[in-house]
Order: sequence, then C-alpha cells, then structure tokens
Amino acid sequence: MVLDVSSIREDFPIFRRYPDLVYLDNAATTHKPRVVIEAIRNFYENFNANIHRGLYDLSQKATEIYEDAHEVVAKFINAYSWEEVIFTRNSTESLNLLAYSIGLNYLQPGDEIVISIAEHHSNMLPWMRIAELRNASIRIVRVDENGEMDYRELENIVNEKTKVVSITHVSNVLGVINDVKKIASIAHRVGAIVVVDGAQSVPHIPIDVKALDIDFLVFSGHKMLGPMGIGVLWGRKDILMDMDPPFYGGDMVKSVDIAIRDSNIVKKNIVLNDLPWKFEPGTANVADAVGLVEAIRYLIRIDLNNIDLHEKELARYTIKRLEEYNEKITILGSKDIAKKSGIISFVLQGLDPQVLAYMLSTKNIAIRAGFHCAQPLHRYLGLNKGSDRISFYIYNDYSDIDRFVDAIDWILKELG
Ligand code: PLP
Repeated sequence: MVLDVSSIREDFPIFRRYPDLVYLDNAATTHKPRVVIEAIRNFYENFNANIHRGLYDLSQKATEIYEDAHEVVAKFINAYSWEEVIFTRNSTESLNLLAYSIGLNYLQPGDEIVISIAEHHSNMLPWMRIAELRNASIRIVRVDENGEMDYRELENIVNEKTKVVSITHVSNVLGVINDVKKIASIAHRVGAIVVVDGAQSVPHIPIDVKALDIDFLVFSGHKMLGPMGIGVLWGRKDILMDMDPPFYGGDMVKSVDIAIRDSNIVKKNIVLNDLPWKFEPGTANVADAVGLVEAIRYLIRIDLNNIDLHEKELARYTIKRLEEYNEKITILGSKDIAKKSGIISFVLQGLDPQVLAYMLSTKNIAIRAGFHCAQPLHRYLGLNKGSDRISFYIYNDYSDIDRFVDAIDWILKELG
C-alpha cells in the first residue's frame, strides 16, 4: 500500500474506541485525527475571543489565527490571494451563498444556468431556486452509461444566454472525476462563470484552482478530516469584488450611516467591508477554522497524490473482488480506475439498499444506503429505491474491503 494505514489509524481516536469498525462512509463524513480535535480544544482553552472587535491581546491573537486560516486554505488550493477564501458552514451553504450572490448581482430574466444530472441536491436546488426567483432557467447535461459527462451535449447546451456552469468535480454517487478544465474552457468561451463543487474532490486529489482555470470552488471541512461546521467558498477576487453579498449584519460593513426623519430612514450610506469579510457576516467560526487548518496540514503531510493513489488501489481491489458476484451486483458508472475516485455505488439484485446496509451494520460495517442526496440521478438511472455506496479514505485498507465482501457473501447466502 502507498500509505502506512496502521500508523495512520493510530492518529484517530475513534478507531481506538471502536477497533472492530469498518468505516466505509467517508463520502458522508470523515473521522478526525487527534491533532484536529486538540487544535479546537487548544483554541477554546487558550485563545478564545471574538475577532476584529477587540483591542485586547486575546482578540488580536484570535483575529490573527483566523486570518492565517484563510491563508492556509488559499495555499492549499493555489488561490491567487487569501482574500478569495470565504469561510461558511459547509459546501451547501457555500453554494447557496454563491447562487444568491450571482442571482442578485448578475442574473436577468431569460439567462441560463447549466448543471449536470449527477449533481448533489446542494448543487442543484439553490440554482433552481434562484432561477425561479430571477426568471432564469436551468439546463441539464446528462451523463452516459459509464456515468461520464456528455461533453458534446454540454457544448450544445452552453450558449450566449449561459451565465453559470456549476458542476461537481467528483460525483458523490458514481465516483467519476469530471474534466473540469474542459468544462471551464467550454463555459468561458461564452463568458459564463464556472463553479466547481469540490466536496468530493478537494479531500482526495490535489486541487489547483489556477491550473483548472475555474472561477469558484466549494468544499466542506468535515469531509477532509476537519470539523463539522466549517466549509469554504473560494472565488476569483475580481468577481467577488464586483458582487454585493446576499447576507448582511455585523462585521461585513465598514460604516453604516442613516438619517432619520419622522421615524423613517431618509438617507443611508453603507460601506461594505473588504474581502473576504463582506461575505462573512456575524461571529466567525474561528475554532473550526483552526481545526480545518490542522486537517489540511495533516493531508499535506500525507500528500494528496498518495491519497489519490491509495484510494484508486482500494477501488481497483474492490471492483475486482465484487466481480465474483457480478450476476447479483451491479456497480454504477465506470469501472475505469483512471477516471474514478474512491467512491463505489452498487445495487444488489432483489434487495432493498436499506436492508443491505442494515445487515452490514450488524457486522460493524458502516456504508450508506439511499439516494445520497442525488435523487434526480438515481431516477435517471432507473433506481427508484436508490443504491448502496462505499467510499474510502486514508485509514481504510484491504482488510476493510475483505470484511465488506465477506459480509456480502454472507448476505447472499442468507438470501439463498
Ligand atoms: N456536494 C457533494 C458532491 C457532496 O457529496 C456533498 C455532501 O455529501 C455536498 C455537496 C454537500 O456537502 P455538505 O453536506 O457538507 O454541505
């Protein structure tokens, strides 16, 4: 194996607590290494104060820590500047924030937003909602029988009315890695804004926003060893500078001046704060930003290239082992490891996905069953009960897959 999994597992307290756990639900959320848990605790024990508002030492130190966290994230994805990094709660909030910003600032009636059928609800519903509010429309690109995007259809759909192309980098169901560079070049030809949902790519493969030539990227801390409750919206500075934010309140303005006559506001002068603060209203989640920083440092130490190789190896091994059952089990999408990350969804003929997941849970094997927040994709694939999904990370090894496949074997025998 590329990674020394047994020493990695030592870093994760959850595996000491549950030594028998086979955790194959990493696309939903990942476990946290001790360094992340300790960093959060260290912040609250030693540096807790609200940022930007205090002249006292603790507040200034907390402010410095929070600003540095933006810098660490910016370097991690090779952003142009730390001011382009906006902290949110998760990918979902990042996408909503972005959809509303773009909607309020740029969308006109008749404009079009392009997404794919393989999007997570979080990269579908916010755009549908804003399209509805702005009288714009949504265009959907399909995927082929391998789950790969139909790039020819994308070229046909994208036109002068296209204002946004928002696509997932890695499908959370099919595990297929989309060619984001190609998508960006198609979208940029008509001047559309390119948004990439990196929730399932940033934790697993090296990302360079400059090399990908994209305009926005979103991801969630909790899917990359970080805490729940912190997410990222990265965007190009020139576009962010141009947009008014959708959410207002404290810390996102430099000054607020109003003139009142007869209880009415008759004049107002609001000067928005600099980037990234104008998009981060209210008290910041400093502790979880600190946790995310430690998660990123941990991932950098292991090296994203190694993580990608490790997961591809596990995916290759799983697909090979499941072939023994190919009369009963259908893997969704491509089996071409070069185009895939460590996510494998499948259906077992004649068995409700929920029942399968429950039976596996009785053997201490954690997988996910259902629609994985991608109902339109499942319906498009004709899977009205959803599917089962396994997904890997740095602490999984061959023995996890063997336990999983042995349990599948047991289930098939039970079913007769
Ligand atoms: N996009 C994709 C591709 C995902 O897999 C997920 C979560 O599973 C999300 C968006 C939403 O992430 P979060 O729930 O952290 O906001």
